[in-house]
Amino acid sequence: MEKGIRSVLFDMDGVILDSMPRHADAWIRVFRQYGVDLAPLDIYRREGMSGRDSVIDIFRERNVAYPGDDEYGRILEKKISIFERQPVGLFPLVKEILHFLRERRIALALVTGSLRRSVERALPRDVMDCFDAVVTADDVSRGKPDPEPYATALRLAGGGVHESLAVENAPMGIRSAVGAGIQCIALATSLPEEHLREASLVLQDHRELMEYLQDRL
Ligand SMILES: [Mg+2]
Repeated sequence: MEKGIRSVLFDMDGVILDSMPRHADAWIRVFRQYGVDLAPLDIYRREGMSGRDSVIDIFRERNVAYPGDDEYGRILEKKISIFERQPVGLFPLVKEILHFLRERRIALALVTGSLRRSVERALPRDVMDCFDAVVTADDVSRGKPDPEPYATALRLAGGGVHESLAVENAPMGIRSAVGAGIQCIALATSLPEEHLREASLVLQDHRELMEYLQDRL
């Protein structure tokens, strides 16, 4: 039986922020300096892993020795400095969707593997203010795909697991939400549907998400 929705939990990158092509571009440029050629899909399918885990995973997959944690620090600095050169924008309809939900007194949470300082840098104040709870990498001991981030956000935002909805765009995030018992909708903003099958529903874009929410609320 489908219950009413009392809270909606949003991932940030690829859901609120149109940032994944820029993340991919920055990683591709940095890895090229280490002799590893990547395509955007190599980044998109690892979205949600910690930076260090994904770097180790990429070197291992390409049979290149991981250069160690000191060098990882430099890799991450280079990536951040390329990524932060330009601001990233919101997806179309994001503000309309958030306002639509707030008008219906739905609790809203942001659930991201990014650091809090990156979130505060990336999101405009009026968008931050829409969220009743913001769960970042700084707020959990285990990140996505562990259920902890979504379970924490649900506890802070309120509402039972069967009255909540998560919106994700990547396999690790979907696994985290589903592991916390929350119904998950995936947006195919970075990955095609074949990567998003653990979600209960895959929508193509924010227009389809708005229509879905208007139907349910
Ligand atoms: Mg995402």
